[in-house]
Amino acid sequence: MDINKNIEKALEPFGFPFGTLQDLGTFLRHLEKNQLSVSDFLGYIDQQKQEAAGREKRVATLREQRQKEWAEIARKCPECSAPMNLFQVNTGPRDQTGDDSNSQWACPVCLHDEYSTKTVRELFS
Ligand SMILES: [Zn+2]
Repeated sequence: MDINKNIEKALEPFGFPFGTLQDLGTFLRHLEKNQLSVSDFLGYIDQQKQEAAGREKRVATLREQRQKEWAEIARKCPECSAPMNLFQVNTGPRDQTGDDSNSQWACPVCLHDEYSTKTVRELFS
């Protein structure tokens, strides 16, 4: 089997359009010209993946920490006792309630909600 047949066989499972192969060829020539190997490139990809995973983990940890902090100060739902979310209302055309309320507590679990004329700032001062 000649080299081109082997390359075709290696490419077959990926089904790359010819334009993609040309782009890949251009990239590989560019790597070669800059004395970089395919292994160097794969190492770069692995490092990028690790960094992205680290960022995602830090974000998830922060989100979890904020949820715990919020759960400690949030009003508990009278229907299911889940920590409720707090929103400002009547601040613009998209959050009109038809009354004079300034905040809304909404349960993310059972959808129970309550309105208050107190602003979010007043609720926590
Ligand atoms: Zn609830």
